[in-house]
Amino acid sequence: MNHDQSHALFTRAQKLLPGGVNSPVRAFKSVGGEPFFVQRADGAYLYDVDGNRYIDYVGSWGPMIVGHNHTAVRQAVKQAIGNGLSFGAPCEAEVTMAETLTRLVPSCEMVRMVNSGTEATLSAIRLARGATGRSRIVKFEGCYHGHGDSFLVKAGSGMLTLGVPTSPGVPAGLSELTLTLPYNDFEAATTLFAEQGEHIAGLIIEPVVGNANCIPPREGYLQHLRALCTQYGTVLIFDEVMTGFRVALGGAQAHYGVTPDLTTFGKIIGGGMPVGAYGGRRELMSQISPAGPIYQAGTLSGNPVAMAAGLAMLELVQEPGFHDRLGAAAARLCAGLEAAAAEAGVAVTTTQVGAMFGLFFTDQKVETYAQATACDITAFNTFFHAMLERGVFLAPSAYEAGFLSSAHDDSIIDATIEAAREAFKVVKG
Ligand code: PLP
Repeated sequence: MNHDQSHALFTRAQKLLPGGVNSPVRAFKSVGGEPFFVQRADGAYLYDVDGNRYIDYVGSWGPMIVGHNHTAVRQAVKQAIGNGLSFGAPCEAEVTMAETLTRLVPSCEMVRMVNSGTEATLSAIRLARGATGRSRIVKFEGCYHGHGDSFLVKAGSGMLTLGVPTSPGVPAGLSELTLTLPYNDFEAATTLFAEQGEHIAGLIIEPVVGNANCIPPREGYLQHLRALCTQYGTVLIFDEVMTGFRVALGGAQAHYGVTPDLTTFGKIIGGGMPVGAYGGRRELMSQISPAGPIYQAGTLSGNPVAMAAGLAMLELVQEPGFHDRLGAAAARLCAGLEAAAAEAGVAVTTTQVGAMFGLFFTDQKVETYAQATACDITAFNTFFHAMLERGVFLAPSAYEAGFLSSAHDDSIIDATIEAAREAFKVVKG
């Protein structure tokens, strides 16, 4: 594969953009090498500036669930831009979006649109703190909730000690308010709440972890957290930026039958436009300004073009059988990858929930963050590049979930498995 044009662009980019990118994972730092620069995208494919084509399992990190450049979404955007790009005053599409979201995710009795997943999670935490009058929050190892200061925190030494920043610039005084738990550990959560439950404003979790590869919850785990939050008056927040409208039409909360108090959404509800949202119980949401005293605002929030794209996409995911088909395609892919790895003598296991999947270089079933980080990362990096060379783009990090779209048909999945057969042989050496 020729990458001359991408290389030239990356050289230019590095002079002016930190690391040559506008979001770190795009720089390929954890897998090595240089990123390709995209010229266009269509269906299940990305096309780079050197004319190479890739089957895409990143899907713009989630939103492209109906495939890239879908005609219906494109048409909706075209129609919307005919009326102007931003109004700074209310428009009908915002109301329709709120009606759609609250219908599809019933735990969201009211919603507020924002511009990114980060904004959604920051706002949800402020609401939890404002509504409870408490300041501590709980998050989980391996979960990512955007780059808000309260989330760039890891556990200090000893489980119940204060959190410490994972990035310079995060004040220690703030990170101390973030408590970090091991995901899928029932007892750790019980113990933490027994000791500090009355001080915990909110607990935020990716109900299926998608930022430490893909780790589904153990049976009953989300229910356990729900019960603890109810018992201690803590606001349970499901961060469904990845899982929303992907693992099921109603998100992970519908899939697992657990009702959070607040839910955060991101990119997927913009169909590729910069969007996020948070929503939840009316009693909580009506405390947000201007209905209530907890402040949150956004000049471009509810942007008419973004609303149009999101509504068109949400229309498509409501087609009967949409999620069943996607789930079946993901299951077929995972089975094929496991078989191809076994054929090559490489230890691999997969996880899958709906249209989200994980690929781990280990012979163990992965259920914890510690297990995910113990996998063979060097093997993943070799596999990643061997797949890329064969025209398959996986997330450029061993710690990211894979995403399918409705454009990934059987022939595309078969082509992926075929590429993986060869790529696993490269890993084996
Ligand atoms: N929450 C989760 C679960 C995410 O995966 C992400 C981003 O990938 C975010 C929040 C932050 O979203 P954004 O990048 O739109 O700020």
